[in-house]
Amino acid sequence: MSFYELQAPTEWAAPPLTWSSTTIDDIEACPRRWQLLRSGWGEHDRFPVRPSPAALEGQIVHDALDRLTRACGQRGNPAFGSAEFAAALADADFFPGFARAVSDWQQRLTSHPRPGPAFRLRATAEELANRSVRMFREQYKPEGCSTSQAAEHATEMPADVRSWLRQKRAISEVKITHPELPFLGIIDRVQQEPDGVEIVDFKTGKPSDKHRRQLMRYALLWWRKTKDAPVRVSAQYLDSVESWLVTQGALEDIEADLVKKIPLLTDALSERPAAAKPGTGCHTCPVRARCAVGWAVGEEAALVDGRGDAELVVKAKAGEHGFLASSRAGAEIAVVYDAAVAKLLPEHVDGQVLRVLDGVWKEKRSQLELKAWTEVFVVKEAR
Ligand code: SF4
Repeated sequence: MSFYELQAPTEWAAPPLTWSSTTIDDIEACPRRWQLLRSGWGEHDRFPVRPSPAALEGQIVHDALDRLTRACGQRGNPAFGSAEFAAALADADFFPGFARAVSDWQQRLTSHPRPGPAFRLRATAEELANRSVRMFREQYKPEGCSTSQAAEHATEMPADVRSWLRQKRAISEVKITHPELPFLGIIDRVQQEPDGVEIVDFKTGKPSDKHRRQLMRYALLWWRKTKDAPVRVSAQYLDSVESWLVTQGALEDIEADLVKKIPLLTDALSERPAAAKPGTGCHTCPVRARCAVGWAVGEEAALVDGRGDAELVVKAKAGEHGFLASSRAGAEIAVVYDAAVAKLLPEHVDGQVLRVLDGVWKEKRSQLELKAWTEVFVVKEAR
């Protein structure tokens, strides 16, 4: 049976053995999405996500900016053109990273269950690098950042990390596991300031409460590891810094929350499928075709991105390049596609319920064109 006909995973993902802050937030946001993405689907170890070319290019640029932001931060945010800045570019593997990412993705797309001959990244590695450099230049402000000196990279964590910090003044990529909970974090930077220890994480994008929560969890890890509570946590963005004071009471609350939350989320992931939490993310959720409740809220919402998601019942074939179908609302839809796309559709579509992802609406939504990147899932559950 092809991937697009499988109605459920063939091997369900188990709950994680150790938890990071991001894992907790992701599972809390929607246990089902986390579970379906990490489950085995036939020959695939995980759900084979097939992003659009534009989304992929955006992700390559974002990942490169993320690496460079972190590398600059760990070197004390050096000025453009300085030797330290050049070293940060090398640490981040900034320029070579584009060619590698483009070739990796091309390979992954080719081995995807529905490769689609016309589906290739449009931008070259060089164009993506130029786009990233432009964005970085617009935002990066070496002055005014909370870090001021290069940090010692923690290749191997000494047992007495507290003394090591006193000696080095700033250390980077500090991996700490909670002594009692299955919770760990890799802290971008820990620095010794005159008033105490500061925990710093380097971020691209906009300030968010998620960043504060992650930093407070890191502060908890440092406190439990060293018995020394940090005085402050800071999220350093390319052009600004957000800081929050740390109190022992706040750290105790964070810890009590983890003690409660981890077993609850573990239980949630033991269900098959795990509970769905439909919300604003459903219309871009990669597993939405296999989640009826999320599909119901996401189908219309996809329109805001100009994408055509539609659940259709096929009524009749109309030649080699199309079929007639009815939508969830009962409207008649003419589905059209070219010969290359036709080869990639399920063999027998008559009478089937299909969920179409990322088609293109035309003629006032009476026609849906299937593109090279469109995916078509067969649905067996009752409408
Ligand atoms: S479609 Fe929505 S509810 Fe369903 S798995 Fe995705 S995020 Fe969760």
